Amino acid sequence: MRRDDHSKIGELLTRREVTALPAYDPGADPEQIRTKYGVFRISKLSNNENPLGISPAVAETIARRIADSGRYPDPASVGLRETLALRFGISQDRIIVGNGSENILELLAQAFLNQGDKVVTQAPCFGLHEIFPMMMGATVQKVGGTKPFEFNKAAWRAALMAPTKMTLISNPSNPVGSALTWEEFQFLMKSASNDTLLVLDEAYFEYAAGAASYPDAFEQLRSQSRPWIVLRTFSKAYGLAGLRVGYGLASHAHLIDALNRVRTPYNVNYLAQQAAIAALSDKAHLEESVRFAERERGFMTTRLKEIGLSVAPSLTNFLFVDTGRNALAVAKKLLRDGVIVKAWRETGYESFIRVSIGLHEENNTFLNAIGRAISETPELECAFQHRA
Ligand SMILES: *Cc1c(COP(=O)(O)O)cnc(C)c1O
Repeated sequence: MRRDDHSKIGELLTRREVTALPAYDPGADPEQIRTKYGVFRISKLSNNENPLGISPAVAETIARRIADSGRYPDPASVGLRETLALRFGISQDRIIVGNGSENILELLAQAFLNQGDKVVTQAPCFGLHEIFPMMMGATVQKVGGTKPFEFNKAAWRAALMAPTKMTLISNPSNPVGSALTWEEFQFLMKSASNDTLLVLDEAYFEYAAGAASYPDAFEQLRSQSRPWIVLRTFSKAYGLAGLRVGYGLASHAHLIDALNRVRTPYNVNYLAQQAAIAALSDKAHLEESVRFAERERGFMTTRLKEIGLSVAPSLTNFLFVDTGRNALAVAKKLLRDGVIVKAWRETGYESFIRVSIGLHEENNTFLNAIGRAISETPELECAFQHRA
């Protein structure tokens, strides 16, 4: 068979929904950048990882448990679910553990979305909140403001007025970093119908939890009988991104039961289960990580504003920065200094980069590099901030 026959067959075999899917953008690969630009030290500020990494208690647990990795893990992650059940005061059958919370987002799409169902999410949006529903043939409506960190009440109310199967909200928002206030959160809950599945993605919960303005969705929803699920992860503040483990707390056991039917039986590996239990008991490392991010975030925000850039207020370990220039061009220039950030590609946000809070030295490298990159890149005529 000729080469183009192969691609034709591939096309014929692929589901329509899959052909139409946008690719997830994981950002540049550090090894490639090292080789290509000949820079020794890479500042990887593109994936919102905790620069302090895993806690010593987790490292010790993994070292001790590694010899037992020859067996399949517990398919129900009972130990971890027990620990979470105790912490949150709900029964284990309302908890699911996933291979990262991404895995749970995928299961939610697979278990609940039919072709043609409507899903409402935010703009700008976390890529997978759009990709997984589209994979199932659902229609995704994105609601945004006139500024990236503005909550548009009228638009949300209008979007949720029409029958909606699921609403996916990241709070704090990825990529913006800011969070809904209590009042805004309640407005959303009131606007959504009681048969809409509310999915609250709180990947950055631990960073935001200390702020008085931040609404804890689990505390808000726990007494409500409507369908909801709150997603959290060990990848961000707990520093376990490479181990892949996240969890969901749901309104009803039957939601979890549906997710269990579509997940692979051994979705969470043995070391990840053990590491997550250990991470939950090391409060000191978590607190240090959150304090560290707060301090560096303040420092970076001040410096970025000094060079004239607008920065969205953030409760997380990353910043959404309007460069006023083509963000892809700016991000590419940063690579010369070994700095990897994420240039945002969503329509209307092409002048924004998302930069993670790294170690102090990495943040400094970024600040110096962006000063230079900005001065070398022509300003855009109508960046987001200049629009009506
Ligand atoms: C990082 C992130 C996730 C994914 O986390 P994993 O648990 O590593 O899969 C999910 N949602 C949002 C909004 C994120 O930023």
